[in-house]
Amino acid sequence: MNIKKFVRPNIRSLKAYEAKEIPCKIKLDANESPYSAFRVQRSAFNVGKIFHSLNRYPDPEAKALKKIISKYFGVRSENILQGNGSDELIYYLITTFGGPVLYPVPTFSMYGIIAQAVGEKTIEIPLDEEFDLDLEKVIKATKRYRPKLIFLSSPNNPTGNCYSSEKMLRIIDLTSSLIARYSLLSLVVVDEAYQPFSSETGFLPFLKDYKNLVIMRTLSKIGLAGLRAGFLIADEEIIKEVNKVRLPFNVNSLSQTIAGEALKDRKTLQSRIKSIISEREKLFNELSEIEGIKPYPSEANFILFRIKNPDRIYQALLKKGVLIRNMKGAVDGCLRVTVGTPEENRIFLSALKKVISIEKS
Ligand code: PMP
Repeated sequence: MNIKKFVRPNIRSLKAYEAKEIPCKIKLDANESPYSAFRVQRSAFNVGKIFHSLNRYPDPEAKALKKIISKYFGVRSENILQGNGSDELIYYLITTFGGPVLYPVPTFSMYGIIAQAVGEKTIEIPLDEEFDLDLEKVIKATKRYRPKLIFLSSPNNPTGNCYSSEKMLRIIDLTSSLIARYSLLSLVVVDEAYQPFSSETGFLPFLKDYKNLVIMRTLSKIGLAGLRAGFLIADEEIIKEVNKVRLPFNVNSLSQTIAGEALKDRKTLQSRIKSIISEREKLFNELSEIEGIKPYPSEANFILFRIKNPDRIYQALLKKGVLIRNMKGAVDGCLRVTVGTPEENRIFLSALKKVISIEKS
C-alpha cells in the first residue's frame, strides 16, 4: 500500500521539521538555555497542589498564567493567547488568517513548514548582505501579493541580529495603512523568541499604535523549553479570532503552573539571561580571534559563524561530543552554536580549535 498516494499533495511534498536527538556530551544545537529557570524549592507548594488535581482537565483559558504574564509585560489578559510553545501559535495564526504568508529568509523554518502544511502560499524575501530586511523588496511583495501574515523574527534565527526597527516600523505602518485604505488585512507578527537577550527594546510599546501588530513570545529560550509555553500579545479582536482555532486544553496544568511560578521569579530569570548575554560576548570575542572564523554579532542566545569546510568541522566536533547546528541549506558555509555555561563554552572552543588545527595540518 502506498500511503503517500492518499496524503494531501501539500503534505506529500513537505519535509518534517528535523529535531533529531543526536547523542552528545555538550548540547549547543537548539538555542535552549543551559539553566532551568524553575527553582523547585521556591515553588514546591504551588506545584505540589497540581499533582492532586491531575484528574481534572487544565484551565482551558489559562487564567492564572495569563494574569501573571499580564503583570510581567504590563498588558491586559484579554490581549494574551497561550500556546503549547510558539510553534503552535504560528499554526493557529496561519489557520485563522490564511495566506499568503510572507517572511524574509533565512529565518525560522516553521513559518514556511506550517504554511505549507495548511496549504497556504509562501513568499520568501531574501535578507540583504547584513542579514537585515530588504525593505524595498518586502514592500513591493506586500503590495503585489497582499500577504495576510508577515512573520519577522527579531532577533532572527539563525542569523542572530535584530532587523532595523525603522524598517520594521515602515512595514507595520504600510500594512496598517493598507487596512485603513483598502480594507486589506496584513498582520505583522514580530516573533520575539530571543528578545530577552537583545539590547533593543522590542515591539511591545508599539502595540497601542498598530492594531495589525502581533507579538509572539516563548519561555523556551529562557530556560523552560520542556514546558512548551508560548504566547501571543495582540489586539483583543485578533486574540478572540485566533482563540477560536485553539485546542481547548492546549497548555497542560503542570506547564501552566510551572510557567507561572517561573515568571513570578523574575530575579532568577533576569540573572540567568544576564549571564548568557555576558557569556555570548565572551564567546563572540574568542571566536573572532580564531583564524578562519567569522562570527556574526548576535542579539540572541546563539552565534552564527562562517567557517571553511563546515560539514567536516561539524562532524569532527560531534565526534568530540560537541553538538552544534550545521546551517547547510539555510546559510551555506555557516554553523550555529548556542551559548552554554562557561564550562560548556570552554569545551566547545577548545574542541573547535583542535579540530581546526587538525584540518590545517
Ligand atoms: N520562533 C523562533 C524564532 C524560534 O527560533 C523558535 C525555536 N527554535 C520558536 C519560535 C519556537 O519556539 P517554541 O519552543 O516556543 O515553540
